[in-house]
Amino acid sequence: MTAESTLRADIVEVGRRMYARGYTASNDGNISVRLGADRLLMTPKSVCKGFMTPDMMCITDLDGRKLQGDRDPSSEMLMHLEVYRHRRDVQAVVHAHPPIATGFAVAGIPLTRAVLAEVLTTLGSIPIAEYATPSTQELPDAVRKYITAHDGMLLANHGALTVGADLYSAYYKMETIEHFAKISLVARLLGRENLIAREEVERLQELRGTYGIKAPAPICADDAAPPSLADAAALCQIVEAPPGGGQRLVPNVVASSSADGSRTDGDAEIRLTYRELSALIEDAIRSLR
Ligand SMILES: [Zn+2]
Repeated sequence: MTAESTLRADIVEVGRRMYARGYTASNDGNISVRLGADRLLMTPKSVCKGFMTPDMMCITDLDGRKLQGDRDPSSEMLMHLEVYRHRRDVQAVVHAHPPIATGFAVAGIPLTRAVLAEVLTTLGSIPIAEYATPSTQELPDAVRKYITAHDGMLLANHGALTVGADLYSAYYKMETIEHFAKISLVARLLGRENLIAREEVERLQELRGTYGIKAPAPICADDAAPPSLADAAALCQIVEAPPGGGQRLVPNVVASSSADGSRTDGDAEIRLTYRELSALIEDAIRSLR
């Protein structure tokens, strides 16, 4: 098989896996790979990724002009073009709507906590790109902010995007994000999410080199505090990893339904709706009578 026919077959296979794993429904999602220096091979518009054939793919140039193919390229082509423009190292882009990770994207909770070693050594942190109307120029604009420093991100109220040095590495990052989201969800439902200490995170970063894993950007220094946080995400990866003081896991960091990771110790903040607060006051008054 030629390189092109292999890549066409690989896109079909990755699409089939994404659909089989429930990362896409109906015609959702899209996949592209570089075809030489100045062309892209891309999934077409309006097809189910679980039932594609190699001949369905489009070939475009790096400005999105169709060069070959019976069908039109993906409606999210602009987002793919933006990635290739900013990341010369990237050979493939995968976009899907994996349900647990997308749930985090809908809740506005980024996957940035230091929880799993394999996530820290492969993707690092997974931020959320701001909400943008799908298929418009807004989406590449939102992605641009994070793509220099991240190989994977959530898209607010939409889905997830991963990139890689080849198609399978981009796809496996999508698997890692969804798997991480599942584990994070379970830990948060259980009410406790111990974090890997910053010192251990730094040790894991050093291991990246040993395994030959290239990170797009380093982890942000501890003092990258708001309001520079949004700007920092463009240059480095924000990872929530508290100092361990000799411990490798920081215990009793209790997950909460809020995104701020507030602790449920004596000084914790709790939030009540007006109705809940009124009910508590009424109960207290009733018990005084
Ligand atoms: Zn989408």
